[in-house]
Amino acid sequence: MLGPTLNHPGDGAEGLLYLNGRFLRPEEGCIGVEDRGFLFGDGVYEALKILNGRCLWLSEHLARLGESCREIDLEFPWAKHPLAEILPRLAEESGIEAGLVYLQVTRGVSPRDFDYTRGLEPTVMALIRPLTFPDEVTFRRGISLQPWGDLRWARCDIKSLNLLPAVLGKRAAREQGRDEVLWVAPDGTVREGGSSNAFAVIDGVLRTHPADNFILNGITRQSLLRLAGELDVPHEVRAFTMDELEGADEAFVASTTRDVMPVKSVGGRTISDGRPGPISLQLVNRLREEAASLAGLDPPQLFSRS
Ligand code: PMP
Repeated sequence: MLGPTLNHPGDGAEGLLYLNGRFLRPEEGCIGVEDRGFLFGDGVYEALKILNGRCLWLSEHLARLGESCREIDLEFPWAKHPLAEILPRLAEESGIEAGLVYLQVTRGVSPRDFDYTRGLEPTVMALIRPLTFPDEVTFRRGISLQPWGDLRWARCDIKSLNLLPAVLGKRAAREQGRDEVLWVAPDGTVREGGSSNAFAVIDGVLRTHPADNFILNGITRQSLLRLAGELDVPHEVRAFTMDELEGADEAFVASTTRDVMPVKSVGGRTISDGRPGPISLQLVNRLREEAASLAGLDPPQLFSRS
């Protein structure tokens, strides 16, 4: 049962907000100044794709949210905020066909103190906004990466609100004229993108960093590894180095907002011929088919070899 009532139905133009049990227009949302998310970044988040008004890979995202909450000792009040019902309703009532739900949970509001007491009332918000996902032209264009020493913390498996390194890294990448930052370990191991997982095809084998504490285990990453298995694409969960990436047959980043996005260059060096490779193409098409099927849409027009 959903307790909250919809005060202002969304008109589909700009978005809709769920905040602590109420459905509101985005601009009507108010958060306490002593919210621990605001003061300390003490919270976690998720970002989900909406297609045909439906939330895709919803249970996977909610499972990851549950894990992030557990890892920061935050007991998520599922009975009070049944997200498996709230998010589809948010998507439906927003009228948004294609978009993103940004879901954030903080430990709640209390006088500023690093230490916390258990049992605070978490702040739960979900905001849906329209978003355009990459089309064939964008896929074909690909993106450029700017490698940067990974200066984040050692629990990147938690989808924490503390995103200052990504904010600064993405900005630095942009200032170099690049599209995304690539986090690289001190020993030259490639970890992941600023908000994406990194993949490379090396000697014919698709590889990506293991899901340890140095990367976020992306929902898209997990789907792609499963699909690679189904498609008999040789693959291995094994990190690769910057040298291996520079000599790779193909490379791409993967995320909810970028799907499979070919990497045309890294630090100014072109990867292969700078164009999407066959495995990237195979995987993006299979992922888009799965997304369309989950969204209840007809099979999409597949991206073709140029
Ligand atoms: N790594 C990081 C650091 C991210 O921020 C994201 C996007 N949230 C991803 C990977 C990709 O995750 P997903 O496929 O779940 O969007």
